[in-house]
Amino acid sequence: MNAPIRNHDVAELKRLDLAHHLPAQADHKVIAELGGSRIVTRADGCYITDGDGHRILDGMAGLWCVNVGYGRKELADAAYEQMLELPYYNTFFKTATPPTVKLAAKIAEKMGGHLTHVFFNSSGSEANDTVFRLVRHYWKLKGQPNRTVFISRWNAYHGSTVAGVSLGGMKHMHVQGDLPIPGVEHVMQPYPFGEGFGEDPAAFRDRAVKEIEDKILEVGPENVAAFIGEPVQGAGGVIIPPDGYWPAVEAVCRKYGILLVCDEVICGFGRLGQWFGHQHYGIKPDLIAMAKGLSSGYLPISAVGVADHIVAELREKGGDFIHGFTYSGHPTCAAVALKNIEIIEREDLITRTREDTGPYLAKALARLNDHPLVGETRSLGLIGAVEIVREKGTNHRFLDKEGEAGPIVRDICIRNGLMVRAIRDSIVCCPPLIVSHAEIDELVGIIEKSLTEAEPILRALKPE
Ligand code: PMP
Repeated sequence: MNAPIRNHDVAELKRLDLAHHLPAQADHKVIAELGGSRIVTRADGCYITDGDGHRILDGMAGLWCVNVGYGRKELADAAYEQMLELPYYNTFFKTATPPTVKLAAKIAEKMGGHLTHVFFNSSGSEANDTVFRLVRHYWKLKGQPNRTVFISRWNAYHGSTVAGVSLGGMKHMHVQGDLPIPGVEHVMQPYPFGEGFGEDPAAFRDRAVKEIEDKILEVGPENVAAFIGEPVQGAGGVIIPPDGYWPAVEAVCRKYGILLVCDEVICGFGRLGQWFGHQHYGIKPDLIAMAKGLSSGYLPISAVGVADHIVAELREKGGDFIHGFTYSGHPTCAAVALKNIEIIEREDLITRTREDTGPYLAKALARLNDHPLVGETRSLGLIGAVEIVREKGTNHRFLDKEGEAGPIVRDICIRNGLMVRAIRDSIVCCPPLIVSHAEIDELVGIIEKSLTEAEPILRALKPE
């Protein structure tokens, strides 16, 4: 890595953080009690360094996004060169820029088949806002204006904008802002450990799919616009659906003429060992949302992949699709995304994830199944979860409440040099796709050590 090491006055940065910064998705009371946020100052490969000098293995690839790892000079050079040539221009008013068009073509190549076109935005949330508006616009053009309702899953995450939160199924997010907006219906998530414990997997799958069909019939198929889901739910707790779930969901959508949308914001760009998660499941969505791994988080850019039959409708009927952002197709972001995809191709990170590091992570996590606190480990490609339970062989949680144990174990993991997230009582991981076997062993080893350290603390928990 070539970046100079800067010395930061961390105490001063923390003071400024408290004085002027409201960090995202935070409990501001807790941040104030802590005396400010952790200041992350640099990163290289799979490791981040904070201002207090801690070197931490980044088991989360930032926020599920730094797929090619940190410190890629090529990406900085791509941004630098593009900024000198044309830092910015928009795609409104019948214009486009070279990197924007090349990136659209590159993404189309990776999506393959019927997904031929791309609409750009800056974030995953915006991508889903675009999905929301494009789908409704499409049905109006098709002469079926009643098709406005989206069906989504409880505990899905589709972003933090009004449409994103509404499409998402996080009840605690709905409470803030009086959401969801009208026209979004939620059904059960395919979460075997949490909602189908001990149930036959095929029976559980059929139950989850039947809920979708029942909801369609309840709303009236003629009113349903689309079904949306993450191939593997990320922020919901790395929820991997049972075998056959996605093909069955696709069949239900086709039966009622409903569009199928995959939110690939986490699953895209190699996370599940294919370019996109839906390719792992062998389904053909009509639209996909992507972000994060598209630029490995080096610059903000997202996209919606659109099927040819939707594009044909837009082209045939004409009329403005009155939607877009100042930064739709931002040339510097697009140049960095193109270079990022080139790195993924050159280093064959997709095959490596599918055939080498993904299976290696699964095996390493499976070693934790002997730990007295572990109820289940699961992973697909390079995304995984460890379920913490009070009693082995059950899904019973500490204090019979979800979310007591997870944050305690997470904090110990971070202290022990591993950045992971706790989602309720799952410790989830999503390392950069460049992660080595030794780093996977380190990641799993720290989770194991941290669970062992946490056990007496958890067993001593008393209800308030
Ligand atoms: N969809 C999914 C599946 C996500 O995981 C996320 C972010 N975690 C989003 C949408 C929202 O993306 P952003 O934070 O870039 O708006």
